[in-house]
Amino acid sequence: MSNQEDRLKTLIGHAKEYGFVFPSSEIYDGLSATYDYGPYGVELKNNIRRYWWEAMTKLNENIVGLDAAIFMHPLTWKASGHVDAFNDPLIDNKDSKKRYRADVLLEEHIAKYEDKINKEVEKGRKRFAESFDEAQFRATNPNVKRSQDRIDAVEGRMKAALEANDLEALRQLIIDEEIKCPISGTANWTEVRQFNLMFATELGSVSGESSTIYLRPETAQGIFVNFLNVQKSARMKIPFGIAQTGKAFRNEIVARQFVFRMREFEQMEMQFFVKPGTEMQWYESWKAKRIAWHKALGITGEHYRFHDHIKLAHYANAACDIEFKFPMGFKELAGIHSRTDFDLSNHEKLSGKKLRYFDTETNESYVPYVVETSIGLDRMFLAVLSAAYEEEQIPAKDGSTEEGGVRTVLRIPAPLAPVKVAVLPLIKKDGLPEKARAIIDTLKLEHNCQYDEKDSIGKRYRRQDAIGTPYCITVDHETLKDGAVTIRERDSMAQERVPIEHLGRIVGDMVDLRGLLRKL
Ligand code: ATP
Repeated sequence: MSNQEDRLKTLIGHAKEYGFVFPSSEIYDGLSATYDYGPYGVELKNNIRRYWWEAMTKLNENIVGLDAAIFMHPLTWKASGHVDAFNDPLIDNKDSKKRYRADVLLEEHIAKYEDKINKEVEKGRKRFAESFDEAQFRATNPNVKRSQDRIDAVEGRMKAALEANDLEALRQLIIDEEIKCPISGTANWTEVRQFNLMFATELGSVSGESSTIYLRPETAQGIFVNFLNVQKSARMKIPFGIAQTGKAFRNEIVARQFVFRMREFEQMEMQFFVKPGTEMQWYESWKAKRIAWHKALGITGEHYRFHDHIKLAHYANAACDIEFKFPMGFKELAGIHSRTDFDLSNHEKLSGKKLRYFDTETNESYVPYVVETSIGLDRMFLAVLSAAYEEEQIPAKDGSTEEGGVRTVLRIPAPLAPVKVAVLPLIKKDGLPEKARAIIDTLKLEHNCQYDEKDSIGKRYRRQDAIGTPYCITVDHETLKDGAVTIRERDSMAQERVPIEHLGRIVGDMVDLRGLLRKL
């Protein structure tokens, strides 16, 4: 098993054991690509959602929220292009009977060349040390150039095939590149077919085309069809945005990799309506704002990179992804798309209703352009969890309550942590439990607290580390006399004696979501 698979497996095991994520309907052996969030998972997920929601709607006076229904009129998906074009090109390996997305096979193939280049660059860096000039090295090193030429050639053919919807050309490229199935190791491929990713169901008891409705494959369309309702009722002036979070459904072909790719997942989307011609400026500004939102969490910059789309979706005139270094490598976490007036114009055509903005300053009326930012909540959850997970060797120290050995700690950014404070009486008697509960009573309106009296203090610290609790407070016999407790910080394991009345401030300063929002 590869190191990457190992890391993902470890994370999945930890997430299950510690109540973050369970396979859906597990007692029936689960349902593929569907997961349930457990007691700590739901808290972390809610906190990420809140961070996103408040960053959008509280920090921007020109962004308001919406909660549209999952079911929408069937014509919505005709107008959006999903009925005709929300397809993935799929290909099967005849020996392993495994199904793949043809474009994903090719992208993974390209990533191998990129790895080769990166290794070559690292070798160069070591060889030339101080005098290393990366740009010059990339432009002149023959091995790098050879790999880059291969990448350009494959990308060029892939883009042309996808744009022309030429499935035979896509298959030929896979064959020419000698791409093999990772399971069977053979290149015995079927033809490439298109597969629509929407789940369809019937409305009411009547069957037939007109009653077919779809589970929404994205939340964005609920925003578009409500564009004028929101603009008028909230008296919004362009440029303005509408934010929404909610479930989306896609019948994914390759549904693996834990909560990264699910068939039921949650999106957080914001559509920003702008005057046509100004969209590129807003596109750049939202790229900068979104990456700042990620970086404020303190997850190091090397986890992120931008990836410009090779093939633009049918609706976009510019698009990029923010990619994150997941345990399985760099993958899409979020997207920023300049969607032009594609959606609003098509909804105008199919509904017969005007979806225009009247600019009172210039007396013009126009269909606005849209810059969208879209992020998968579950992918963000996986990003936070995977960056947070660490197995750390700790030295045994005399007189310390920390036992030596390895601890598993989730260094979740404190404002997102599921439990903020654990209050631990040193022993289960002598009035210590009562004192601990009294402390919880003073903190629980502000913070998610946990009480734990079982096992040694060291073991209790380990349990809190494993769910990412930033602070543990220990109540001992001295506490009853001097009104002070020991507070222990998760990451440094530093312990400090502080008066009980300071706890609210100490904890509050570190775990308050406003601390993150202030950085934006
Ligand atoms: P991918 O190329 O990985 O299939 P996409 O480009 O189709 O993703 P978008 O349509 O741009 O994704 O959706 C916006 C966001 O929704 C993505 O950036 C991702 O975070 C999330 N997302 C999309 N599909 C899934 C899924 N099946 N499971 C979990 N999250 C998803």
